[in-house]
Amino acid sequence: MDPHHEICRAIDAYRDTAVATSHAIHEHPESRFEEVFAAEQLTGAAQALGLAVERGIAGLKTAFRAEFGAHGPSVAIFAEFDALPNGHSCGHNLIAGAALAAVAGLHSIAPHLKGKIVFMGTPAEEGGGGKVILMNRGALKGVDAAMMAHPMDGEWSTMPALATYGVRLKFRGKAAHAAIAPWDGSSALAAMLQTFHAVDSARLHFRDGSRVHGIITNGGQASNIIPELTECQFVTRAFTSKYAKEMAERVIQCARGAAMATGTQVEETVSAGYKNMITNRAVAHRYAEHSKALGTPSPDPPPGLPTGSTDMGDVSHRMIAIHPVFAITSPGEGTCHEDAFVRHADSPRGYDAMIRVAKALAMTAFDLLAEPELLASAKAEFAQSVES
Ligand SMILES: [Zn+2]
Repeated sequence: MDPHHEICRAIDAYRDTAVATSHAIHEHPESRFEEVFAAEQLTGAAQALGLAVERGIAGLKTAFRAEFGAHGPSVAIFAEFDALPNGHSCGHNLIAGAALAAVAGLHSIAPHLKGKIVFMGTPAEEGGGGKVILMNRGALKGVDAAMMAHPMDGEWSTMPALATYGVRLKFRGKAAHAAIAPWDGSSALAAMLQTFHAVDSARLHFRDGSRVHGIITNGGQASNIIPELTECQFVTRAFTSKYAKEMAERVIQCARGAAMATGTQVEETVSAGYKNMITNRAVAHRYAEHSKALGTPSPDPPPGLPTGSTDMGDVSHRMIAIHPVFAITSPGEGTCHEDAFVRHADSPRGYDAMIRVAKALAMTAFDLLAEPELLASAKAEFAQSVES
């Protein structure tokens, strides 16, 4: 038996179930930590494959884990399934479907596996850090390598995801009648606006590839009152957490200057976000080889490719990890988080890509268990990347 061939055959045979599951999740978008329907769909499908499923792991009601295989190294395949306020505009239903189909393919040759496959449901990627919680609570103990694949508008074997920091600001001024006695007040909104302008001026000085963006969550109470309280949120992103933190400190400097200029006070809350993604190139190259053999090259991304952030970054600082991206749109047709992407996440092209990616992931996972040299070189690379 050719294991790669058998994995692909089993995934093709499972296609209808994987597509139906992914479509059902797409039709019931659920926000972070509330993905009850999605978790039910996926755990039900895993049980139908004959897997024993642990639900509500690590104290997260929608996280789950099922494992099979033999004693030996362990590879985790992650299913994300949370949606955004505009629906499945990040296509996490396709991540879930690809993971499920990959697991079905690997399960079909379970007696031939030289180690363990862990199918894990990881909630709340969109701002909830589900994987960070799972990892910190020990749910990934004993896992040697983790993988998943994310839909996008391009096909790349790695996603150079950025590290993030969050800054929340609260300005307190003094309320006054905006027409009768504006001189009695100090405007928390003026401080807010100056902060955004100051951050825009600072932008020139941030290193290439970094980002800072924010929203005003409270812009004042009434247009005829000098605003006494305003609030906003910024996110800084950079190639390393260290630099994202430096950028967050610069945002705070801007806010303090604005507070001083407007006679207001500012309260700051800074929080570390996701870490940057350290792609394991040995494993990513193997994934790329399988993808190419399936008819779709998945090259290294070009330098400077615009990218987002993911809690898979945090996982990649603790173990071997890959996070390839697969195209469900062409450039110009919309990308992640845009309204147009919702439709593409439930399209024939999207499901074809999902099944193909499931095969490439499953064959890569199989190889990691079957080829001690591949796992050893991936481990050596990981050790070096964490040291440097
Ligand atoms: Zn996403």
